[in-house]
Amino acid sequence: MELFYSVFVFIFGLLIGSFLNVVILRLPKNEDLVFKRSHCPQCKNQLKWYHNIPVVSFVLLRGKCAFCHERISWRYPLIELLTGLTAFWLFPNDPSYEAIGMAAFYFFVACIFICHFFIDLDHQLLLDKLNIYLAISFFSFAVLHFHWSYWAIGSALGFFGTLGVTWLFYKLRGQVGLGGGDIKLFGILGLYLGPTGIMMNIFLSCLLGASVGIILIVLGKMTKEKPLAFGPSIILVACFQIYFPDYYAKVLQWFL
Ligand SMILES: [Zn+2]
Repeated sequence: MELFYSVFVFIFGLLIGSFLNVVILRLPKNEDLVFKRSHCPQCKNQLKWYHNIPVVSFVLLRGKCAFCHERISWRYPLIELLTGLTAFWLFPNDPSYEAIGMAAFYFFVACIFICHFFIDLDHQLLLDKLNIYLAISFFSFAVLHFHWSYWAIGSALGFFGTLGVTWLFYKLRGQVGLGGGDIKLFGILGLYLGPTGIMMNIFLSCLLGASVGIILIVLGKMTKEKPLAFGPSIILVACFQIYFPDYYAKVLQWFL
């Protein structure tokens, strides 16, 4: 029974991951998420249902389109596997309604993080359409679990703090540092992370973003036309804080 449940949860995660691929591809272009059939981006042939089985199709087709044999990005099976494993990891083996509700919350947040991460990498965009779901989830959770001062101050610090620094930077240097999506995301994360957590997130994600930027410059991979997306750094740090609280607590001890 336990094995059956685990397999079920993993397959459920794979299918959701398959949907996240569609969201990442289509949401920035405002295309229909549900009713439009999938096409090969190269030859435009409509995919059959058996070309769309998460991970399995990719392996059977050896990573190539069934019609034109153009390479399919390894990102599709990677995102499916990542989502499947996340579901497997988060959903408890002994399911009570309360535990499942909690797991569903964390899984939903993880799904939005995955979409945000890859859409920002591709388009330098943290979409409001995703931010709004994240804001509703965190706000509901915060109201139920935290004192209002914790989430209100956390969110205000995240939003107005980064907005203020961005404004100052703009006045002094004439450059826009953070995008509007980044600032909103900080405000939303502050609801869950609270005052200390959001300050740590801002600090660590700047550190991570700067490190990745320097590595890319050294490797000659960064160009003026495609600046580094900052969202992925914010999200990686937030994932560390939210999903690995024990390790995060150890990092926090070094600073405090
Ligand atoms: Zn094709």
